[in-house]
Amino acid sequence: KPVVAIVGRPNVGKSTIFNRIVGERISIVEDIPGVTRDRIYAPCEWLNFQFNLIDTGGIEIGDEPFLAQIRHQAEIAIEEADVIIFITNGREGVTPADEEVAKILYRSNKPVVLAVNKMDNPDMRENIYEFYSLGFGEPYPISGAHGLGLGDLLDAVCKHFPKPQSENDDEGIIKFSLIGRPNVGKSSLVNAILGEERVIVSEIAGTTRDAIDTKFTYNKQEFVIIDTAGMRKKGKIYETTEKYSVLRALKAIERSDVVLVVLNAEEGIIEQDKRIAGYAHEAGKAVVIVVNKWDAVEKDERTMREFEKDIRDQFLFLDYAPIVFLSAKTKKRLHTLMPQIILASENHAMRVQTNVLNDVIMDAVAMNPTPTDHGTRLKIYYATQVSVKPPTFVIFVNDPELLHFSYERFLENRIRDAFGFEGTPIKIIARKRR
Ligand code: GDP
Repeated sequence: KPVVAIVGRPNVGKSTIFNRIVGERISIVEDIPGVTRDRIYAPCEWLNFQFNLIDTGGIEIGDEPFLAQIRHQAEIAIEEADVIIFITNGREGVTPADEEVAKILYRSNKPVVLAVNKMDNPDMRENIYEFYSLGFGEPYPISGAHGLGLGDLLDAVCKHFPKPQSENDDEGIIKFSLIGRPNVGKSSLVNAILGEERVIVSEIAGTTRDAIDTKFTYNKQEFVIIDTAGMRKKGKIYETTEKYSVLRALKAIERSDVVLVVLNAEEGIIEQDKRIAGYAHEAGKAVVIVVNKWDAVEKDERTMREFEKDIRDQFLFLDYAPIVFLSAKTKKRLHTLMPQIILASENHAMRVQTNVLNDVIMDAVAMNPTPTDHGTRLKIYYATQVSVKPPTFVIFVNDPELLHFSYERFLENRIRDAFGFEGTPIKIIARKRR
C-alpha cells in the first residue's frame, strides 16, 4: 500500500486533518485497558484506493529547537512516503517556517500536494493565491474543522500513487514479524530462528529502511521473517525517538500475517509491553506471545504457570494468543515456536462452513437466550463468514444495537470452541436484516 505523509509546521491542523481522513475506520471501539489509540499511522481508503497515512506531527523529536523539529518531521515524511500532503494555514498566510518546509520537500523530488487549511468559508478564497509562491502548483483549500475540500485533495493525492504491483507472488507464504521493547531479545531470536537446523534460508527478500525481509523454508513451508530489530543498530538521527520505532513496528505489523509479541522473562510485563501488544491485536493479526530469556529465570514447577497467569491477566485482549517460553540464547524450547506460528497463521486464514456456523450459533442461542433491551429481544437470523485474516463473521439480526458486548463475547467464545481459532482474533459484525 502506498504511504501518504502529512507535514507542516505546528498548529496548521495536521492532526485534525489526519483524523478526518482516517475517519471512523480506525476508531477503536474496544475499551480495553492497554489498547492504545496512538494515532500517527493508520490505514485509509478513498474511492477504490487504499493507503497508509502518517501524521508526522505526532512524531516528537526530543526537545530540539522549533525549526529542527520541523525539518526532522519533513525528513521522515520524505523517507517514508510515496506522496506528501503539505499543510499550511490560510488564515496566517505563508510563513518563514512554511518556506523552510517547502525547501526541504522541494529537494526531495517526492510528489507533494499542497493544502491550505482553515478555509472555513468561501469568502476566504482570496487568501489562497499567495500559496502558489511555495512552488507546488495548485493549492487545495480545505477545512479540517468542517471537513471541506478533502475529496478534491485526496483525488489529487491518489493521482500520484505508484501502479500497484500484484501481491499474488506472496500467496502461501507466511509472513511474520517480532515486536517488543528494546533488549527483550528480538534480534537474538531472529538469529536463533534463522539458525535452526530445520530452517533453510533462501534469500534476503528485500531490505527497506525499516526492516530486513528474509525468506526461509521450514518443513516445506515458506516464510518471510520481517526483522525491524536489526536495523536499529544502524543509528539514524531520529532512530532514538520512540514514536519513530513505533511507526516502524506498525509498518512491520501491517505486512505480517503473524506477529510475535516478545517479552523479557527476566523483567516481567510492563505497561509498554501492553501498548506494543495492543498494536498487533488492533491490526487484526494472528499473535503468538513469546517469553524470551527463560534461561535466566530461576524456576520451579510452578513458575511457568504463574508467568502464564500473569500474562493472561495483563493481556486480556490477547486471550486467543498461544504463549511460548524459550531462550534465544541457549535455544532451549526454541523448537516449540515454529509450530505455533504455523497454527496461528492457519487459523488466521481459516474459513468455516456456513451451515456448521449457523448450527453453532443456534445452539449457542438455545443455551443462552439472546438479551432484551427495553422489551425488545435480539433476534439472530443468519450468520456467515465474510472474510479471513482475520476471520470475520456477519450476523444478521433484527437490531444491531441489541447485540451487546457481553453477548457478542459469548458468541465469539462459542465460535472459538467449535472451530478452534487459536492464535487469531475474530471479528463479529452485526447487520440489520433488510
Ligand atoms: P532486541 O533489542 O529486542 O533486538 O534485543 P537483542 O536481541 O539485542 O538482545 C538484548 C540483550 O539480551 C543482548 O545482550 C542479548 O545477548 C540478550 N539476550 C537475548 N536473548 C536472550 C536469552 O534468551 N537469554 C538471555 N539470558 N539473554 C538473552
